[in-house]
Amino acid sequence: MKNIYLDYNASFPVKPKILEQLLTQTDSYGNPSSIHFFGRQSRQKIEETRHKFAKCLNVTSDKIIFTSGGTEANNMVLKGFVAEHKNKGTLLISATEHPSVLKTAFTLLGEHCPLINVKKSGIIDLVHLEDFLRRAEKPILVSVMYANNETGVIQPISQIASLTHQYGGLLHCDAVQAFGKINFDFGDDLPDFITFSGHKIGALQGVGVLFSKYNFPYDALISGGGQEKGRRSGTENVLGIESLGLVLSHLNADIYNCSKVEFLRDYMEAQLVEIAPNLVFFGKDAPRLPNTSCFGCLGLAGDMQVISLDLEGIAISAGSACASGKVKPSHVLLAMGASEALAQSAIRISMGPMTTKEDIDYFLKAWTKIYVRGLKDQLQLINQNNG
Ligand code: PLP
Repeated sequence: MKNIYLDYNASFPVKPKILEQLLTQTDSYGNPSSIHFFGRQSRQKIEETRHKFAKCLNVTSDKIIFTSGGTEANNMVLKGFVAEHKNKGTLLISATEHPSVLKTAFTLLGEHCPLINVKKSGIIDLVHLEDFLRRAEKPILVSVMYANNETGVIQPISQIASLTHQYGGLLHCDAVQAFGKINFDFGDDLPDFITFSGHKIGALQGVGVLFSKYNFPYDALISGGGQEKGRRSGTENVLGIESLGLVLSHLNADIYNCSKVEFLRDYMEAQLVEIAPNLVFFGKDAPRLPNTSCFGCLGLAGDMQVISLDLEGIAISAGSACASGKVKPSHVLLAMGASEALAQSAIRISMGPMTTKEDIDYFLKAWTKIYVRGLKDQLQLINQNNG
């Protein structure tokens, strides 16, 4: 049986080239806070990556904070803001944020925390955002992701940044999925906080970055030894940070590779419509990540498709990977106006530079079997009901 990985948005495999280079780093065990030679060596590796990362964003290195991943970085900003301003101020998040933003906001403010609407396309409703901003009690923190993990929909971040700043607010942007897949366009108006995650671009799992435009203004989420200038305690993940540094050296080539899979994604979608004309593609009318396709097919449960495809050796997701295992329909698709039944049926295919046309053809063949079986089951049900 083949093993076909079409779940790059969940985690991007570490490239053999990076792994090979990492295996030569046998001297990365010193604690970077130790003053001896081994410690200094680890410290130097961390600072080199910090510098590389800062250069990517065209900012100074002191604005880069290493974390354990995107979830932690998102929590740092939201929890920091709310704790700093106690029950004052306004936290505004879009309805399609990743659970590390959405659930954190719900935990902080309750399930009735106001959400910025998105349109059917998945793009944020700027009129709704402006309406919120006009009425919001200051200080304001807006949190909008760059690209959605489930649909790949890309938000007009520079417009959102100008609007937020015009009303005196701060913008937090979760750029976890956009990083390494598309060229960033923050314009002249950089968000105040930006979140990144290593394992979505081929670095090791367990490393992330928070960019903070100003000296991080909130209390640390994790206190202790005072690492990362007191903004995030805990011994740094030296090898993870190094892997991020290695990935950064290949970033432009990776973006090019990712854009190359766009034609495969479009080919797959065109074939799918031939097989099942009733398919609904989410976010197709919006700018999308070139590697992502999310679609629903009434009558086929998303989790059943994941299991059936897994039995054929194909790895995909239903909704977001972080939410898999739950039968709840995706909040992202519901916010885009999908019915519960359609959202329950959705699956996500996310490709990567190693994906080939043969992989997609293999997937299409396997999915067609599932679809035909689903049609037969439905027919049988209708016949039973009739009589
Ligand atoms: N934000 C987005 C948009 C994501 O897709 C994910 C992971 O799926 C995260 C945040 C969380 O990142 P991490 O897995 O590094 O905690």
